[in-house]
Amino acid sequence: MDAIAWSGFWEGFLVKDCAEQADGSLLIRLMADPAHKVLCGRCGLECALVHERRARRVRERDLLDRRVWMDVPLRRMLCLQCGGRHTERCSWLDAGARLTRRLRAWVEALTRLLPIRHVAELTGLDWHTVKTIDRARLQAEHGVFDARGVRRLIMDEFALHRGHNYATVVIDADTQRVLWVGEGRSRATVRAFFDLLGERCRDIEAVAMDMNTAYDLEVRARCPGAEVIYDLFHVIALYGRKVIDRVRVDQANTLRHDRPARRVIKRARWLLLRNRENLPAGDEVRLEELLAANQPLATVYLLKTALKEIWYAPTVREGLRRWKTWRRQARESGIPALLAFARNLRLYIRGILASALYPMHTSVLEGMNNKVKVIKRMAYGFRDTSYFFLKVKAAFPGKTR
Ligand SMILES: [Zn+2]
Repeated sequence: MDAIAWSGFWEGFLVKDCAEQADGSLLIRLMADPAHKVLCGRCGLECALVHERRARRVRERDLLDRRVWMDVPLRRMLCLQCGGRHTERCSWLDAGARLTRRLRAWVEALTRLLPIRHVAELTGLDWHTVKTIDRARLQAEHGVFDARGVRRLIMDEFALHRGHNYATVVIDADTQRVLWVGEGRSRATVRAFFDLLGERCRDIEAVAMDMNTAYDLEVRARCPGAEVIYDLFHVIALYGRKVIDRVRVDQANTLRHDRPARRVIKRARWLLLRNRENLPAGDEVRLEELLAANQPLATVYLLKTALKEIWYAPTVREGLRRWKTWRRQARESGIPALLAFARNLRLYIRGILASALYPMHTSVLEGMNNKVKVIKRMAYGFRDTSYFFLKVKAAFPGKTR
């Protein structure tokens, strides 16, 4: 093999020879390039006194279809500057590393796209090695808490291990970036976030969250200038469970003797819960027929749409008008589930009407749970919670302000 042609791949070294090994991999043996200055691995200054030579065997990125190993004769130098024995500086191999920077960069690129297991298979590296590399990259890119310029927050929770444990996520509402993830969903959980936020707590204007959380207590205690907003997504989801599902099941039960009609209603769950604009053309017709045939379902469906309009009110005054109209219609319907929902919502009305003053894009919440599920599947090593949280942060890098 021509030493000249290979130079440049491994600065400071030349290729001595290259041989095929029994397992089909290639072993490239390097030798020191006499024209290259040797630098101390610690202080970076040139040094001339070689204390000893030690060959280190490292993995390099694959060459065509071959795995590549290399023997690198690294020198231990006696450095006159820092007065100790240090391994020489190498621009393509980190201190103590068993794989080159080139291979490491390749693994980093792959782990952005593929599960660890697949990357390990592709590269022939150990699962733990791949995970360690991915974790270090994530830590460098997302490990530092940065809340500069943050004024509006969104807080939410998601399930960890099969719904037994929960995690809390805090998002910058303006950029949709995940700022922080912590274990638990209690008031004490978010305390850790506000501790990190420190002085910046004063800059927070509004925090959006689900109605049924303990976050609001901590927000009120820590952020004197913040308004608590109850976000549309969670309220509509609750309305779906408490009102639409309830009425649908009740209506299906009244049709016990009309099996085909009963089946239509029982199977209409998604039809009723999905946003109308997301329905396929055929389903739109089905929905119209269903609502025309069933008065209580039509009522709760219409009130779902009207409920959303409260959030979109341009002013608090207009929001209040819409809320009053809504509440009257809920009362007049006489549907028990709807009445109970309206009564409960009344307790949270301030945080709903305030959305007119602090409009926030909470749509990020709609995709959150699905995205988290995908990460759980991809990043096995999910038992390592801090690694998993870094993955979540990386999945929501946000857009620039
Ligand atoms: Zn030195």
